[in-house]
Order: sequence, then structure tokens, then C-alpha cells
Amino acid sequence: MGDQNCCKCGRYLPSGNLRYVVHIRVFADFDGVLSIPEGDIEGELERILQEVEFRDPKDLEREVYEEIGLLLCKLCRDRFVREATGEGESEGNGMMIH
Ligand SMILES: [Zn+2]
Repeated sequence: MGDQNCCKCGRYLPSGNLRYVVHIRVFADFDGVLSIPEGDIEGELERILQEVEFRDPKDLEREVYEEIGLLLCKLCRDRFVREATGEGESEGNGMMIH
């Protein structure tokens, strides 16, 4: 593995430097229960079908399962873990995850 940069801040991470690999697997935890909306079920179904039709299949796939590999420096690693676990949220340093 050669020299690389931190995926978050772009910091240069030369070989031999302390760096972290974050491997994230995000998958839909389908519990077998479909939530049926109250009221306009027909309309809701139509809305969902339309949404699926106009969306990129890759996008939909990612919604169900996504694997992400990140190379991080120590700082970003600490921040990442903090934010992922919801600790130190009061800091509010504007990193957005949607
Ligand atoms: Zn970094």
C-alpha cells in the first residue's frame, strides 16, 4: 500500500504513518413487516412505484446494501467514531451525513 490521503480531510498519509481504515456495511434491516400507511393506500402505492420507476437502480440498490471503505487520519477517525456513536454531539462541527 503506497502513500494515500485521508478520505475526509485530504491530509497526506505517508506510508508508515498512523492511519485507519473504516469499513462500513450499511444494510436495510428488513423485519418482514411492511408499514401500511393509513388512508390513501392506492395513492401511496402509486407514489412508491413512480418513485422506483424514476430512480437509478444503483441508487435503490445502495439503499438496501452499501459497502464503504474509507482511509482516515487519526483526527478524522476520532471524529468519525464520535459522530457515529452520537458522542460529543454538542460540538457541532458541521459534518453532514444524509
Ligand atoms: Zn483526516
